[in-house]
This record gives sequence, structure tokens and C-alpha cells, in this order.
Amino acid sequence: MNTADSESLARRLLAAGYVEDSLERADVAILNSCVVRQASEDRVYSKLHELKEWKTPQRTIAVTGCIVAKEGEQLKRRFPHLDAVVPIGDYEPFVGELEARYDYSNGEAMPRAGRTGISHFVRVIQGCDHNCTFCIVPRVRGREKHVPLANVVEECRHAVAEGAKEIVLLGQNVDDYHDPDERGGLAALVRAVQQISGIKRLRFMTSHPQDLEMELLEVMASSDVVCRELQLPVQSGDDTVLKRMARGYQTRHYRAIVERARTLMPDIGLVTDVIVGFPGESEAAYMNTRALVEELEFDVVHIAMYSPRPGTFAATRMDDDVPHDEKLRRLNDLLALSREIAARKTQRWIGREVEVLVEGRDELHRTYGRIRQGKRAIVLKGGAVEPGEIVNIRVMQATAGQLTGLPAA
Ligand code: SF4
Repeated sequence: MNTADSESLARRLLAAGYVEDSLERADVAILNSCVVRQASEDRVYSKLHELKEWKTPQRTIAVTGCIVAKEGEQLKRRFPHLDAVVPIGDYEPFVGELEARYDYSNGEAMPRAGRTGISHFVRVIQGCDHNCTFCIVPRVRGREKHVPLANVVEECRHAVAEGAKEIVLLGQNVDDYHDPDERGGLAALVRAVQQISGIKRLRFMTSHPQDLEMELLEVMASSDVVCRELQLPVQSGDDTVLKRMARGYQTRHYRAIVERARTLMPDIGLVTDVIVGFPGESEAAYMNTRALVEELEFDVVHIAMYSPRPGTFAATRMDDDVPHDEKLRRLNDLLALSREIAARKTQRWIGREVEVLVEGRDELHRTYGRIRQGKRAIVLKGGAVEPGEIVNIRVMQATAGQLTGLPAA
């Protein structure tokens, strides 16, 4: 979501004549913030402290993103060197103020393919109608607003015509998407976007086990364009904890989705999020989560240690009763388990031919990209392959982080 917001503001600024440059050379620094976790919020504050040195009367510092809804103008009191607090999506007054201050008239419109020139991010839902007790998103992003299907398709068509190879449909809970003109949900949207002439890949995130339509899995399985990857946060493997989190599903629902997805797409990449140490998470409850992670063998598990987010139901109404050391122990235990599973699972790719959408060259000048199942891949001897092209490689090495291979003959 933050990537989509950054692209949207960048596009507006580039169209107004601004160009991107290093911090040292820039006149304007804009921080796009995420406050879903306390650590992310703390990083924004730490960056604002760092920028104090950089700030001069001629330079402008602005903050946008979720933190604006949470902290608002009081950020300026805390950081007197901060010039502007810009609400998400409400960029025009800010751009107007910049234009009154700086005169740049030779900028270039950003390609619709985005700054990478490969992927175009489209926010199809803003906000979230769920009320997970640990989450601050509904408070900072508001209730859901859905972009009409026809508008999304039109935007994607333009992006592809201007060079985008991949479309990424975004929503805090993208599975809840429904067209305000009643043309269907996410499955219908994915079906419409994948038909755009010239599109090479289509992804969507983040899914929600309560809202995911089984029809969507069928659309994915029957498509050569839609990526075989699901970002499906489970958060806990214990039904009592899920209830306290107000997630709206039980582990048996989650298992049923994974089973159906793997029946239709045996190779699907499965990414999940887990919170350990949620209020009331007993040792037995944690062991249920551990068992679920072991059973479902995710490709990637993002693990967070619970910390109360001020303003959430859990922070105000639940006792943060799992001691810090115990949370840390569970985090490290699950981390070790999920790494061991990922390393084992990833071996299945060795010797196989996979399709890589090339994104660029890394710091060692090696060609890299992503396979359809979401994994990063390095293309050895791929110097002749340009970003945006698709190349098939034979996998020679596989680690939890990436695959490495040579172009297939
Ligand atoms: Fe937050 Fe739950 Fe909405 Fe996800 S579904 S954004 S965790 S409230």
C-alpha cells in the first residue's frame, strides 16, 4: 500500500516538474510512513531526528502516510524542523505550496509503469472494514473505498501500453474487493485485468482468509498471467487466539483454503504472517501455531512479536500478559522452524526450469527477477536479457532467499 502511495505522490511531483535525486542534492525530502508496527513508527521518528542535520531554511521536509492520521499536526510540535504533514491522497495543497516555493518547470511525467519501469501498483481498495483487535489500519486508513472495476482496468491498460509488464492489485484486504457498479469481486477483477493485451504478470495482495473466494483460486490456476503466490496472513494457529484477535475465521477454514490452493496449484508460493505473544496466548496456544506452521510448510513466514499499538482494542482492553522474554523465545523458535522449512522446501526447485520476469541488475551486476511463485531468482550469464523480459532458467542453486540458474537451452 505504501508503495502505491509513494508512486502516486511521485507521479504527481514529477508531472509538476520535480526530479528524483539523492538526499544530499535534494531540496525536498518526503517520508512516507507506515505505522502498522511500533518498530515502523519508531523508524519514522528516528529518520525525522536524522533529517534535523540536513534541514536548512531552503529545504523542505514533509511526512505523509498512516502516521498523519494517527499523529496529525502534533508531529510538527514534536519535530519543529518538519514543514508539512500531508494526509494520504490529499496531495494537491502540498504540491501547490511547493510550487509557490520552488520553480521547477522541466520535469518529466513518470511512466505509468512506475519507477522500476516493470511493475505498476494499483490500489483497488483504500482502508479496511475489519477490526482485528491488534491493528491500527482501520483507524488510520478509514473504512473501505473500492475503485470501480472499469477504472482499474482502464488504468492497467494505460500502464501496460506505456511499458508495465506486471500489474499489482493492492488492498489492505484485497479479497474484500467488490465493484461499486456490481460487476463482481476480486475474481472478476483479476479475470478482467489478466485479459489486457501485453500484460505478462498479475499479482494481488494482501489476502484475508475470511474473504478469499474459492473462485479466485480457480481463476489463478487457469491463468498463464496470474502469479502462483498467495499472501495469506494466518496470524495464529490457535482458534482461541484468533477469536481474541477478531480475525473472523478458524484454523480449519485456513487449512481448507491452503488445501484447495495446493490441489489446484501444487507449486503455489504461500506467504503468511504470524504474531507471537498476543494477549492470552498460552504455551499450548503457541504450540498450536508452531504445529500449524510445521504442517502447512509455508514458503515465507513473517513473524512479529506482539506489542500493543496505542489506539487499538487490544492495547486498551487486553492485558499484555506474555512476558517479553517468553515472546522472544517463541519468536526465535518459530523463526528457526520456518527457516528450516523454507530451506528444505526450496530444494524442490533444483534442476527445474522456471520463468523469471527480469527486474534489473543487483549490486554485483547480476541479472535478477522473480519467478511466478514469488521467489527472487538470479540469472547467471543473463547480461543480454533486459529488465521487463521473461527468461526461462534451469535452477542450479536454491536457498531460502533466492534461486540461481542459467538460461535454459
Ligand atoms: Fe488490519 Fe485486520 Fe484490516 Fe488486515 S484485515 S488491515 S489486520 S484490520
